[in-house]
Amino acid sequence: MIKTKIIVTYGPSISSDLILRRVLKYADVIRVNFSHGEKSSWLEAVRKVRKASRELQKEIALFADLPGPKVRVEKMSAPIQLKRGDLVRFSYSGTGQSIRVSYKSFHLDAKRGAVIEIGDGSARLQVKKIHGGIVTAKALEDGIISSRKGVNLLGISMNLKSPTKTDMELARFAVKNGFDFVGQSFVRSAKDIERLKKACKVGIIAKIERRDAVRDIDEIARAADVVMVARGDLGEEVSLEHIPDVQRKIVNAAREAGKPVIVATQLLTSMINNPTPTRAEANDIASAIIEGADGLMLSDETIVGRYPEAAVNFLVRAARAAESSLNRQVTVKPMVTTLKFGIAYAAAELADSYKTDCIFIPTKSGSTAKIISRLRPNTDAIALVMDERVRKELSMYYGIRGVRIRKYNSTDEMFGIVKKVALGLGVKRYIIVSGSPNKPGSTDTLKYIGGA
Ligand code: PGA
Ligand code: MN
Repeated sequence: MIKTKIIVTYGPSISSDLILRRVLKYADVIRVNFSHGEKSSWLEAVRKVRKASRELQKEIALFADLPGPKVRVEKMSAPIQLKRGDLVRFSYSGTGQSIRVSYKSFHLDAKRGAVIEIGDGSARLQVKKIHGGIVTAKALEDGIISSRKGVNLLGISMNLKSPTKTDMELARFAVKNGFDFVGQSFVRSAKDIERLKKACKVGIIAKIERRDAVRDIDEIARAADVVMVARGDLGEEVSLEHIPDVQRKIVNAAREAGKPVIVATQLLTSMINNPTPTRAEANDIASAIIEGADGLMLSDETIVGRYPEAAVNFLVRAARAAESSLNRQVTVKPMVTTLKFGIAYAAAELADSYKTDCIFIPTKSGSTAKIISRLRPNTDAIALVMDERVRKELSMYYGIRGVRIRKYNSTDEMFGIVKKVALGLGVKRYIIVSGSPNKPGSTDTLKYIGGA
């Protein structure tokens, strides 16, 4: 059983029924990116994923990714080719034949001498003059500016609000249409997450892709339900040689807060055009898991890639190989400050040293399963849940598989249910971690089944 959670972005490459079914076999979560397309296309994605998951009889969680306050070049009638030294004008209003940018205060945040980067480096210009709301900049090299490309002021944190009004509206749309998670792009602080939480009652993913978010990562990790290392835009904010240490910092903060963390973007970029990955990509995947990532996410590989199925397949193989080389390390210091933690810790220890087949966790709120996930036992762990929402929530947690069970009213009834599930899975030696029926958070029992 694979422990790493696989998050796949929906896109044209996997939208045919056949490919979608094949890809969903490996995926735990599907991301629908609200930065592109429109409501009708997102609903179409939801419909297709639901249909395929019904056919596969596999529940897939849905994650709506909100665009956030990304500054972009507005729609242009045609791309502009730049020669080094060319002067270009930018403004919010578009006056004086300037290129329109989607951010009102662009001219206020821009400083003389600052570098404007368009797209992923498709053009780089230096600000020469700011006057009357117009920013005039000189091309540092040949380049191209085209519609809807991202605009960055290197080294300057633009004063952008997150979530935006659009984000709030789209979050409500996502919840109404059954999405299980909502991701906020360009989070700045824990307050952003709290504002979004008020608007929607599903799991919130904090996408860390700004420098100020990295600085406040501990607080953000505590506020969010899931954390994402969004390496794409993060790479525009911090210089690339610092991606590894920033990634480690974010992963550690999430682990410390007991929240699952996703490593995203460019995991298998070469597989957009090739059926096999590079050695470095194989290594990147393994490093992420060894560092403590719960989940790995594919983007362009499954949006526009030519080999989406091969990419997901490789991701799973590489993750699995890394998991088995990961000797159980309790990366979290045992903090036996609560009975629940103590019992979970003992269960993880016992399961691994006794080499049992499984840890069963009948859980109402999912909280004990989350602790077990954090302890990273080698032994498979199955959370037995009554509530589909809890099961979906657990789909981001490393090493936890959620299985739906019927309601029970007594401990004996619960043991009976576990026995049945174990029998069905062919599991003989196992541990049950449980509490009183119908009392969430009451974990106080560890039981071993299967003889000496
Ligand atoms: P995006 O987020 O794909 O929505 O931009 C991920 C990232 O920036 O890495
Ligand atoms: Mn991003």
